[in-house]
Amino acid sequence: MSANHSPENEVPTSSPRETQTGTRLIGTRACLRCHHELDGQPIIRIEPEGLLVARCPECGRASPILEYPVLGHWGSRLGVGLLLLYIVIAVAAVLSVAATCFGIALQITESSYRGLRTLIQSKWDVASRESAFDTSNTWEANLAWWHERGPGIIAEFEATQGLGFSSLPILEMGGFALLAALFGVIWAGLFAGVRRSRLWILPIVSYLITIGLAILMTRLGDGPLVPIYWIADSVRVRSLVPFTLLAGTVGLEIGILMGRPVLRMLTRLLLPPNRQSDVDFLWRVDRKR
Ligand SMILES: [Zn+2]
Repeated sequence: MSANHSPENEVPTSSPRETQTGTRLIGTRACLRCHHELDGQPIIRIEPEGLLVARCPECGRASPILEYPVLGHWGSRLGVGLLLLYIVIAVAAVLSVAATCFGIALQITESSYRGLRTLIQSKWDVASRESAFDTSNTWEANLAWWHERGPGIIAEFEATQGLGFSSLPILEMGGFALLAALFGVIWAGLFAGVRRSRLWILPIVSYLITIGLAILMTRLGDGPLVPIYWIADSVRVRSLVPFTLLAGTVGLEIGILMGRPVLRMLTRLLLPPNRQSDVDFLWRVDRKR
């Protein structure tokens, strides 16, 4: 330590001196406090530390120009961990919405195809009496018989009952779409890092997952016998749930595409002005700021 350094000079004073460096900041850098773009601001040296900063013209906060990896390896590990956590949450959100939509779709189609089970039962009763099928119980039908006769029985049922797509309850479908739109708004916030032009993919992914789930869950098995109620449920789910889910998917699409403007409006209404910068990403992701 040299002799001409007095103790007063080594302790940072409360009024540091600023000198102009004569250069300006080139490139994108946000103000640490208000996230205002600092591009083009003069670069200032703060003495005695010699720190290079750019001062925000909006709020006056000085943001350092040079950054050092203060957390070292642990910092990047923490970042990777948080990213993984986000991916887990995002996947869980898509899966849980897909499962919820599936549950609602099942509920909506519950009353449709009501007479199908009775019709299959009566056809099976006749077939099992007239043939060598095992008839030790009456509530299970032979799977091979169903594979052969099933399509004809379904066609007969739909022709006599006038069912199919038109059997779906319109009001409940509308309610489903509305609820799904709400999920979509939440997704628009959760997937704030995804540009709006790509957000529409998520409801489609959810739709495909749910259809896959529906097909897997309604497998009739490998036989030789299968419960008749299960056959009827499988037919109902496979013929109606894909249509029912469309209402949910349309709702999700509307919600997720309208979601950001809705969330922006809500934050303007509900958040005090000094907290608005915390949700600035809602604007930046769609290049609104
Ligand atoms: Zn600022």
